[in-house]
Amino acid sequence: MTHPETMRAMVLEKSGCPLQLKQVDVPTPSPQQVLIKVAACGVCHTDLHIVDNELPHPKLPLILGHEIVGTVVELGSQVSQLGQFKTGDRVGVPWLGYTCGRCRYCRSGRENLCDQPRFTGYTIDGGYAEYTVADAQYCFPLAAAYDSAEAAPLLCAGLIGYRTYRMAGNDVQNLGIYGFGAAAHIVAQIAVHQGKRVFAFTRPGDVEAQALAGKLGACWAGDSSEAPPEKLDAALIFAPVGALIPEALRHTNKGASVVSGGIHMSDITAFPYRLLWEERVIRSVANLTRQDGEELLQIAPQVPVKTTVHRYPLHEANRALDDLRSGRFAGAAVLMIRQTPESGWLAE
Ligand SMILES: [Zn+2]
Ligand SMILES: [Zn+2]
Repeated sequence: MTHPETMRAMVLEKSGCPLQLKQVDVPTPSPQQVLIKVAACGVCHTDLHIVDNELPHPKLPLILGHEIVGTVVELGSQVSQLGQFKTGDRVGVPWLGYTCGRCRYCRSGRENLCDQPRFTGYTIDGGYAEYTVADAQYCFPLAAAYDSAEAAPLLCAGLIGYRTYRMAGNDVQNLGIYGFGAAAHIVAQIAVHQGKRVFAFTRPGDVEAQALAGKLGACWAGDSSEAPPEKLDAALIFAPVGALIPEALRHTNKGASVVSGGIHMSDITAFPYRLLWEERVIRSVANLTRQDGEELLQIAPQVPVKTTVHRYPLHEANRALDDLRSGRFAGAAVLMIRQTPESGWLAE
């Protein structure tokens, strides 16, 4: 397939500044990479943390975006030898862009903790652009069950959300979810499908997110400052608000886990030891393994998980980030890379 030499991309030149629409070179795939024509790219809270300078040492200038759905248009020499992908294949690219394969974490099934990782849309360029390159070993084949916009949120909100949910353990009946955004709205559907009772906690007064939670099968939805009607066996925290950890602990049963799914959080407020007593656990979740991705992408169509997406054209990435920051929509924001005024949203 042929492709142009340059492309439109939304570029972060400097932390703290808005992204800029630029015409840049289409990247050339290395032997291990594929060149992908991007159809859609999800907008994640982590993108906000990068723009807001809350995560150290991003690549600069940087093309954000780590929930990429697109079509393979060119293969690196090694990829074509291995026959792993062919041009025309539909793929998804997640946050985990590369691991060393040699460190003690990689060798023990914990590549999410690799000592020398690279992350899409953070330390390598991502999908807020018409084209991107990605290491073929870290791309997922995508089934046709989802259109590009609907598939995009699965690739981070879904994957990290699923890992967070898994870390809560199996012996969970009542599951609390704090921060009912993109990750929560996917995880809630899986949890309900698996017979859990979901209690959804939103920003105070966010009736839109509470209504979405109810629609997706939550048995209760309320403000994060409220007490649920029953004690929780586990709580997942997706809002970057440290005060929610003691708040969630307060409502848990003995032996419960409180799992934080985000990469950045405000300081956790001090709390009395009795809230942690009786073998309650607080833990974080970092990144994802490829196995998490394979599992989630297999489970999602079985549930079936339906994502609620808000589409923005590529050049309005700053507005999408701003709306995410202010909680102006329920569900997930997705950039549609190819849009014309006449034809509306062109996914492929
Ligand atoms: Zn490693
Ligand atoms: Zn993300």
